[in-house]
Amino acid sequence: MTKNILYNEKVPEYWLTTEFFHAIQLLPELQKPTVVKYASKNATEGARWVVTLQHANESSGLYALADTWKKLYSENVELGYDLYFLIVNGYGAMMREYYPMFDRRFAPDQIDFNRCWTKPGEKGREDMPMVQREQIEELTEIILQTNPEYIIDVHNTTGKNKPLAFVQEKYAHSILIHNLVDHIIYSGPLPGSLLDRFSDICETITIECGKTGTLEAFTAGKEMINQCIQYKKEDQKKTYKNPLFYKELGRMVIKDKINFSFYNVKKETHLEKNKFFVRSDIEDLNQTSVQEFGPLGCYEGDDFPLCFLEHGLDKSEDYLQVCGREIEIAKPTYGLLFTTNAHNIRVTELGYLMERI
Ligand SMILES: [Zn+2]
Repeated sequence: MTKNILYNEKVPEYWLTTEFFHAIQLLPELQKPTVVKYASKNATEGARWVVTLQHANESSGLYALADTWKKLYSENVELGYDLYFLIVNGYGAMMREYYPMFDRRFAPDQIDFNRCWTKPGEKGREDMPMVQREQIEELTEIILQTNPEYIIDVHNTTGKNKPLAFVQEKYAHSILIHNLVDHIIYSGPLPGSLLDRFSDICETITIECGKTGTLEAFTAGKEMINQCIQYKKEDQKKTYKNPLFYKELGRMVIKDKINFSFYNVKKETHLEKNKFFVRSDIEDLNQTSVQEFGPLGCYEGDDFPLCFLEHGLDKSEDYLQVCGREIEIAKPTYGLLFTTNAHNIRVTELGYLMERI
């Protein structure tokens, strides 16, 4: 059954001797999606899953897992449930002939793994390579067989972000998520995402630890994974923390034919016509109010350079306005996942807007 994935009944011996700062040494063994079980001697609850590296450029989860399983084994921790780790795309993380390690979301012969988890009866992406389809089918079958109770999907952002979690509205008030983050975002539908696939079955949370490759994000990710593993249902009696809740409104895309670059808002900038200049501190807009942050950037040209998409619909006129040469957001909203990573901006988006609830 595990033709296209790797399945380990326990953490391989060699992995336990690998220090977490050397976790990239494990990548050659993670060329297929890899499941690792940490079995309970007496499981009384459904399984918990920690998933990472769905996006091959988001490395914090891999390092955090290397640290986590070492600790579990050395302290011989008994959890009372079976814990599973899933490392999805080690293959995409080390396509070294094409790009540096951890540089791209997925390899040139792949599509985004987090768009492959097609629900039964749903039409999957037509451009999904056969191998990914089979990998996801095998993984889905294994996950369902374990009677999952919690699935935590660990991601990074390419821009600066405080740790945050995406969750469907029905799970937004669970104690677990309140213990993980201070910023909770109600996730809109995202066909093919792991979150959409499994939220009907169990509490499924996507966490964003912070900027990929930073020690800060690793530390935050490790702490959140630890919280998920240690979490006990008796904790329901504990007091709630007071996270901030947001709802995603849509995403900001730079139009295909528009060139862009960055400028320092504190310095005098000479604009080039028909080129969009994005503020170089745009990542500071994340989880910050638009009024506090100010304009997004500058533009002088014929066509408007940006597009705001709400569930795929162009709502630019409602959300964006021009003031002189500055481009402003017209609604009192908050930034989310804004990045200065030019590759990501080109293939996905500049960032998202959300509202507080
Ligand atoms: Zn991601």
